[in-house]
Amino acid sequence: MKFKALRVSETVDKAGKATFKQSIETLDLNDLPAGDVLIKVAFSSLNYKDALSATGNRGVTRQFPHTPGIDAAGAVIASSADGIYAGDQVIVTGYDLGMNTAGGFGQYIRVPAAWCVPIPKGMTAKDAMVFGTAGITAALSVIKLEQRGVRPEEGPLLVTGATGGVGTVAMALLTKLGYQVVAMSGKPDAASYCQRFGVGKVLDRSEFLTSKKPMLSARWRGAVDCVGGEVLGTVLKQMTPAGVVTACGLAGGTEFCASVFPFIIRGVELLGIDSVEIPLNQKAAVWMKLANEWRIDWPADTVKEISLLQVPDHIQSMLKAAHYGRVVIKHEC
Ligand code: NDP
Repeated sequence: MKFKALRVSETVDKAGKATFKQSIETLDLNDLPAGDVLIKVAFSSLNYKDALSATGNRGVTRQFPHTPGIDAAGAVIASSADGIYAGDQVIVTGYDLGMNTAGGFGQYIRVPAAWCVPIPKGMTAKDAMVFGTAGITAALSVIKLEQRGVRPEEGPLLVTGATGGVGTVAMALLTKLGYQVVAMSGKPDAASYCQRFGVGKVLDRSEFLTSKKPMLSARWRGAVDCVGGEVLGTVLKQMTPAGVVTACGLAGGTEFCASVFPFIIRGVELLGIDSVEIPLNQKAAVWMKLANEWRIDWPADTVKEISLLQVPDHIQSMLKAAHYGRVVIKHEC
């Protein structure tokens, strides 16, 4: 059976320079890798890692042509696995999906059963993809803050890269849980967007990064950092005693400069977040939370639904940090 997918292909010129082109191609189910579960993807979503894969980042995808898409939700068409049956609605996020395994930018995927989470009752495939990997990453960050004892009454929390996917869900979850949230963004007009998620104050990234002092005034009881790089180094200097920082992202750089002072003078904790390789039962628990007590009523016009044809433009926008919030991709029936 034939289906459509957004494929990324590589061309290498005589000088050995590689260029990458995204186009919609027709594939056959036989082109998919072996796996226990064949899924008809109803919705996927756009994450930063997809933008990297679609533009030839070898740290994400080694071989081309390739179908990106680290998220997928839809109906099982065929399964050889116990406990997963044709007709089941499932979510697949992370592991190798969209990295070196054909991903959710195709109308069909074939994956190991060990990657499939049932869509919780009350949640649709689209609801799941509005959260996507960004959503479970934000949720895991909030869970870590809660586990380390950060309480809403203890002072403000900072969310960096606030208008991106992870940042948006982090703002939405934290304000829902009663935390006072301050956002940090590189976008000059971020305030009106962040206000829609209950965030009243937005710091400008360039002003945030001006000081080179080893320590700065203590401002944040907790922080969700989606950016890394210089931003993360500055966040650490601004934490209150026993402040807790979660780090998930690299959009602002993979390396950061820090001293030991935040750790030895203020007892700051820096906690890593991985939503990709964690065990499936942990992912399933997060999905249950997002479908129930952490459900978000998305403000109007804060989630974009696009077709496969529109994905390349949105990838460019994401790489320029010009996009807002979450983008879901609806596959044609
Ligand atoms: P988005 O592109 O949606 O958001 C990233 C945001 O970071 C942008 O919107 C922008 O926010 C800010 N930003 C972008 N470029 C820069 C820059 N050069 N310097 C400083 N800030 C920048 O991506 P996602 O929300 O999908 O992912 C966020 C990060 O988290 C990515 O690095 C991604 O790889 C990582 N990630 C990690 C996961 C894990 O398991 N550890 C899982 C999912 C994502 P603004 O304009 O508001 O400043």
